[in-house]
Amino acid sequence: MRTIFHVDMDAFFISVERILNPSLEGKPVIVGGDPHGRGVVAACSYEARKYGLHSAMPIRDAFRLCPKGIYLHGHHKEYVRFSRLVRQFLEDKFLLVEQASIDEFYFDFTGCEKIYGHPETFARNLQKEILEKFLLPCSFGIASNRTIAKIASDFRKPLGITYVPPGKEKEFLAPLPIERMPGVGKKTIPILNARGFKTLNDIANSSTEYLSVLLGKNGIDLWNRANGHGSDVLCRDNERKNVSKETTFEEDVVSKTLIEQYIFDLSSKVCQLIRKEEWVASTVSIKLRYSDFETLTRAKTLSHPTDDDKVVYETAVDLFRKAYTRRVAIRLIGVHLSNLNHFYDQEELFEDEEMLRKRLLKVVTKIRDRYGFSSILVGKGGTR
Ligand SMILES: [Mg+2]
Repeated sequence: MRTIFHVDMDAFFISVERILNPSLEGKPVIVGGDPHGRGVVAACSYEARKYGLHSAMPIRDAFRLCPKGIYLHGHHKEYVRFSRLVRQFLEDKFLLVEQASIDEFYFDFTGCEKIYGHPETFARNLQKEILEKFLLPCSFGIASNRTIAKIASDFRKPLGITYVPPGKEKEFLAPLPIERMPGVGKKTIPILNARGFKTLNDIANSSTEYLSVLLGKNGIDLWNRANGHGSDVLCRDNERKNVSKETTFEEDVVSKTLIEQYIFDLSSKVCQLIRKEEWVASTVSIKLRYSDFETLTRAKTLSHPTDDDKVVYETAVDLFRKAYTRRVAIRLIGVHLSNLNHFYDQEELFEDEEMLRKRLLKVVTKIRDRYGFSSILVGKGGTR
């Protein structure tokens, strides 16, 4: 049985804004940009939440509910900087820290009781230390698996600590409304509510057969998690899988243009895969095999991690043009992404050109998921 910690910073962007400008303390503060614009709320303070505000709501609606709030564009670089500080701090203490988003971390406490004492006491001290050191409030969830640790960290926010002892997982989940389970969202809630499912206990007492009829494979997964089961495996970013796609030609190809067309196609496919996982890649590689089986790989590390087809395509083509020096036909071409990290979803909420493109790509990912890969093409020359 493992002991997994989930740490979630409380109103993280707001906390950072208050470090930068202490006069914001105690006031309703909203990060998300122009209150008359088309953006959404990226974060809001607990004072603003009293007016009914919450993150991801249209900022215009927020402004109607709370016209006296302080609306900020946000300092994204500062959020990233503080996020790294917290991460470094945790990594100095624990062997295995997984960053789940800009303000969330998992770490494995298993076997640490001997050194650090009871997990709850330890969490209390760590919470105090993070608050004093970085001026950042946070909440902890502690449980035998990731899902429950995540639900638990949200249980008593802000400055909460929730420990679910081993064997009490199901009991802890039972009274909670179904939407507290990560992954149960807008699409799933009405389906489940219509069948009378209100709490996680209702799910736990149903059957995998019934739930899989309603929700497919996700239904089985949901039943397992409502019964207290879940993954306890953490992974460091650099251990994450790589993503690659290759094409072997039935007949060897000599046309450079045709190869580049394939690179375009493969780049779009690998990007589609990582966007679905909300990752970004820092390294792009290509694999090239000549008809005589000589095989080359070439890699480039990017200055900014990306999930953008266009960036990956341009990098891969550049590598290909430099690598393709022999006048020999090509048998195989592959595009490979590595150095994968989690994409911080919140970044999307900041409106600039790059963010607009990210938003567009997200739509592309969804359309392709639903209607197949070739249902939409993103132009090589840009999509703005
Ligand atoms: Mg948070």
